[in-house]
Amino acid sequence: MAAAMLSDPPIRIPLSVPVLDGNEAAYLRDCVETGWVSTAGPFVNGFEAAFAKRLGVEKAVPVQSGTAALHLALLVAGVKPGDLVLTSTLTFVATANAIRYCGAEPVFVDSFEADWQFDVALAEAFLADDCRHSDGYLREKASGKRIAALLPVHLMGGMVDMTALLALAERYGLPVIEDATEALGATFDGHPAGTLGDFGCFSFNGNKLVTAGGGGMVIGRDDAQVERCRHLSTQAKLDPIEGTFEEMGFNYRLTNLQAAVGLAQLERLEAKLSRRREIFAVYADAFADRPGLQMMPSGQAVKAACWLSTLRLWPDQCGFTSRQAMAALRAEGIDSRPFWEPLHLSASQQGGDGRPPRVLGGEMAASLQRDCLCLPSSPDLTADDQQIVVSTILAL
Ligand SMILES: *Cc1c(COP(=O)(O)O)cnc(C)c1O
Repeated sequence: MAAAMLSDPPIRIPLSVPVLDGNEAAYLRDCVETGWVSTAGPFVNGFEAAFAKRLGVEKAVPVQSGTAALHLALLVAGVKPGDLVLTSTLTFVATANAIRYCGAEPVFVDSFEADWQFDVALAEAFLADDCRHSDGYLREKASGKRIAALLPVHLMGGMVDMTALLALAERYGLPVIEDATEALGATFDGHPAGTLGDFGCFSFNGNKLVTAGGGGMVIGRDDAQVERCRHLSTQAKLDPIEGTFEEMGFNYRLTNLQAAVGLAQLERLEAKLSRRREIFAVYADAFADRPGLQMMPSGQAVKAACWLSTLRLWPDQCGFTSRQAMAALRAEGIDSRPFWEPLHLSASQQGGDGRPPRVLGGEMAASLQRDCLCLPSSPDLTADDQQIVVSTILAL
């Protein structure tokens, strides 16, 4: 939690809260009345089908969380204990934890200056200079560890440069798992986030663009691999009657109750998306003339989902720091939030052997963490409330 002063009023303009203004209550009532509350039921199937249709894919696997989606995708992509996976350092800790659940280690990649996303050129230099092929695998020269996958994160509803990333993956024969948990609805050259790599992972956590209370979804290019994710999500059960199993699986299934909320939310995705984009555009317009303030940039090919509208400040130009802006907003009952600590600096990611985590660059992510602020972005943010956010910042 940001340090709130005792004198601070209660939050009246939140950062991002679910707006449950569709069929959520009706669908939940249906679950209770029919008794379908657990891991099977019409809403699980309906949510899966509607989600797949929205993204233009054949099938999708509903799971308990975005973290579970990432874990399954990494496992099925072939990530094994001792492997290395390249991922963004400026991301929520769940991305790296999913790599560690597989017994693998992250190689953290800095943010690219122009779009704050996974810096493909840094990853490319690492693969070219610090890795080599041996025994049929690409391995880090220093440790001999296998490079198993690329896990780019589409930060804050923007998107990684997927043209460059996919070319890199192809050149080195690496599977791509897109962490699209913040980017439902974003597109790159018209292709939805999550559909460009071998796997796409989504989250329906409480503050995401679409919530199911909690939940996630995996999609993938290869039907057999997608079905393998589904199999592993149901404890790898072979025969439900005889109760036979032949390998270790996970209880990662979504419930009908969660799917009921998720489906109702998904039905209103377009309205939520356009509202988030509108909110971003209002901030961008309001801060355009003030030196030292800039909203998150996106690459030319990207149509961002604008999950959380994020402002970058140059204190020497605008005259105040991100934390001063956060405190001023908080004093008005307005919630805002910096980025997470970049993971290469996080105590959670220090190796057990006392070795610091692997990182390529890292300074850009650190400066974004120091100088950025996520601003109120809920779809139900009123125009008046957004003006209060804007004028509080511009008054500094
Ligand atoms: C939200 C999020 C996740 C995890 O999703 P959960 O549903 O909370 O497990 C993973 N990666 C990123 C970048 C996220 O923002």
